[in-house]
Amino acid sequence: MAYEVTLIPGDGIGPEITEAACRVIDASGVDIDWQKAEAGAEVMAHFGTPLPDHVLESIRRTRVALKGPITTPVGSGFRSVNVSLRKTLDLYVNLRPAVSMPGVKSRYEDIDLVIVRENTEDLYAGVEHTVGKDAAESIKIITRSASERVARFAFEYARREGRRKVTAVHKANILKLSDGLFLEAVGDVAKDYEDIEFEDRIVDNMCMQLVQKPELYDVMVLPNLYGDIVSDLCAGLVGGLGVAPGANIGDDMAVFEPVHGSAPKYAGKNQADPTATILSAVLMLKHLGEEEAAERVTAAVRKVVAAGERVTYDLGGSAGTSEMADAIIEEMGQGQPK
Ligand code: NAD
Repeated sequence: MAYEVTLIPGDGIGPEITEAACRVIDASGVDIDWQKAEAGAEVMAHFGTPLPDHVLESIRRTRVALKGPITTPVGSGFRSVNVSLRKTLDLYVNLRPAVSMPGVKSRYEDIDLVIVRENTEDLYAGVEHTVGKDAAESIKIITRSASERVARFAFEYARREGRRKVTAVHKANILKLSDGLFLEAVGDVAKDYEDIEFEDRIVDNMCMQLVQKPELYDVMVLPNLYGDIVSDLCAGLVGGLGVAPGANIGDDMAVFEPVHGSAPKYAGKNQADPTATILSAVLMLKHLGEEEAAERVTAAVRKVVAAGERVTYDLGGSAGTSEMADAIIEEMGQGQPK
């Protein structure tokens, strides 16, 4: 029986890279019934909201979605669809693995890091107001329950994936109450996982250490804002956003999407790198229990990237998005590219 999966193409480069990813996943032999649901600026005119209810309903029904990036207006305009989606569906973990791939230009080799970012609170809770004309306040919200559940995910993930260490990242020396609570909550959860090493780092030091000695780190658990920033740093270590996958995970639903945004300057040009979205779809295959297909797709992606011929501009090639997907499909040896 086919898996029902909600497909949110997104905007900017989203439709091209999600189409490429769907073709690759279909060619892996896993039977997926993609249920398309549009969200973003373009549906505003039609539905009066960039995140219509039927999109949420579809994900609540299928429990799994693959999503392209969605543009968020800076300053004024609608609230981030990405943040709303994560909050509304209580997708409290943002999982972002950063793994080196032969063929991707980077100053580093053998990077193998995992970011576990809290996804529902912190400064992203959206509690902001102006104070008079010339001041504004954003409130950072940290709760014990949200910190504990993201920490538990990090330790369970570490145990399941055979990882050795979890590092909590914070700024509790300055934000003694909020980040202090986060650190305390993660430390409490760590006591249930004596087989996994636990340590903590202050976020600024963490950034320097990741640049200087990334091999010292393994799984990191962070509040929302630091997680957002440090995951781009980790994407940089492995050669850029074009190859960085991600997943938003809750207790009974998950939305898989690349770390990168909608890259408007490449929209509609068939030039964007589909790798991050394809690797996000690989995380989705694993989530569905399709381990073997996930490994086959990963191997084909790595081969095509390592060969460096039929790859997009950011990987040193001149192939288009669709041609790179064709190369991956051919590499898997499953049928002809459509
Ligand atoms: P971005 O990730 O879109 O782009 C950053 C840089 O990386 C740009 O130079 C871009 O061209 C390049 N890039 C990104 N993805 C690429 C790909 N697949 N192939 C080749 N090059 C790629 O970040 P930004 O410019 O800060 O944001 C653009 C828009 O995306 C904003 O509206 C932002 O809010 C939104 N955004 C959405 C998500 C999401 O949907 N989850 C995440 C991040 C940003």
